[in-house]
Amino acid sequence: MIVEDEPAVARGVQVALEREGYDVTVQRTGEDALANFADLAPDLVVLDVRLPGIDGFEVLRRLRHETRAPVLFLTARADEVDKVVGLEMGADDYLVKPFHLRELISRIKALLRRAYGELADTQTGRTLRRKDLVIDLERRRVARNGERIALTTTEFDLLRHMAAHPGRVYTRAQLLELVRDYDDALEQDERTINVHVSHIRDKLEPDPSQPRYIRTVRGVGYAFAED
Ligand code: CA
Repeated sequence: MIVEDEPAVARGVQVALEREGYDVTVQRTGEDALANFADLAPDLVVLDVRLPGIDGFEVLRRLRHETRAPVLFLTARADEVDKVVGLEMGADDYLVKPFHLRELISRIKALLRRAYGELADTQTGRTLRRKDLVIDLERRRVARNGERIALTTTEFDLLRHMAAHPGRVYTRAQLLELVRDYDDALEQDERTINVHVSHIRDKLEPDPSQPRYIRTVRGVGYAFAED
């Protein structure tokens, strides 16, 4: 769970974590985070100190009544760091803005390992099994009925993101955001995604005109089919 009111920061962190295979929710205020915490039951919280209503310190104070999930504070200033460290509020780590996403991810992985041990890896899912597909996230391989299917980097990433959340509808803009880095030199618009999806279907689907895996959601985007 990311608790952050600045959309650009929240989205950057969200995209980076989703690329790593994590399931991410963004809450814009501390009040929202607390209200939704029990339902979402996140394994880890990235918590901004400066929020529009109650601040991150107060959010953490209240969260600690219901969870021991690791909390990583995002702070903007040195005096906030002093408070995070000085009050020993039960934050597990902190980063001062601006930070590098790579640094954030390595801190998050370390916190998850410390909190959940071996489970930390299985929770992000090393292998996705969907219908007759096996998607090996570590080796970046896909097999259908045991037969290997060769996908490009972009195709693989599109597939694994959608397959990670069957039924969740992704807009073309969201999918483009997920894969943009890989083909940065190319002039890209949302139609690029249609082309990638069509290639994936050609390789994956027994009958590409009757897709079983990636559904088109008319006027919206695409979703991996639920069982
Ligand atoms: Ca903020």
